[in-house]
Amino acid sequence: MTERNLTFAANWKMNHGVAAARAFAQKFLTHTSPVEGRRLWFFPPAVSIGALSEAMKGRPDIWVGAQNVHWEPKGAYTGGISIPMVTEVGARLTLVGHSERRHLFGETDEQVARKTRAALVAGITPLVCVGETLAERDGGRTEQVIVRQIGALLGMLTAGDWRDVVLAYEPVWAIGTGKNATPDDAAQIHELIRMELGRKGVKVKVPILYGGSVNSGNVASLLTRPQLNGVLVGGASLTPEGWAELIDRGSKAKVRPSGGFDMVEG
Ligand code: PEP
Repeated sequence: MTERNLTFAANWKMNHGVAAARAFAQKFLTHTSPVEGRRLWFFPPAVSIGALSEAMKGRPDIWVGAQNVHWEPKGAYTGGISIPMVTEVGARLTLVGHSERRHLFGETDEQVARKTRAALVAGITPLVCVGETLAERDGGRTEQVIVRQIGALLGMLTAGDWRDVVLAYEPVWAIGTGKNATPDDAAQIHELIRMELGRKGVKVKVPILYGGSVNSGNVASLLTRPQLNGVLVGGASLTPEGWAELIDRGSKAKVRPSGGFDMVEG
């Protein structure tokens, strides 16, 4: 049993086609067992969702999801993939608004909100990513950006919808760069997000994962902060042994008794 509920989410990005996903699952299953209070989520490329769901089907603690979906169920959207299509092959989740979608593919806050709402309507869990770029952080605009991104979601969701939403705080400057936010940095932004949701009438406690260069060496110290409900991991989730080790180390993290931040002097 973990000390608190924790989610470990693997974003494989454009890695692991069908054969590689099956081989991953076979090894991964020998390295992990279900643990009460712990959820293991996988976001493989769309073509591998079916095979991975099938391979993991004996493990109720493991859910598979899409990396991206369209908000419409069908239509003339070349290259698009809809929620009914991914659920048909086993997806129970979808990532929404990953920074690579926002910054490489120009996805807007409004589109992110539409996808989130479509996921909720269809009954799958959206894991919605927010986070600032390096320029925004250096310009002192982190809070403004996060509030804007959350604001677009607030504009399209009812207070009750938030019961089924999971958020990920992923500072863009920390994704795939080897730089990660300190545990206190991450905890502070998680608190900011919760305060903003509370101010806007969201009463439920929305789980928030942290993502950005999490690895097996830093996961335990990040998860000492009670503000983090888990981690979203790219690069370090790509090998079954490495991902299992990260999950194991993170699961053993002890919440700091103070629950708060390190004292900064000066
Ligand atoms: C991600 O893709 O969501 C991510 C956090 O990547 P990485 O762990 O490689 O920084």
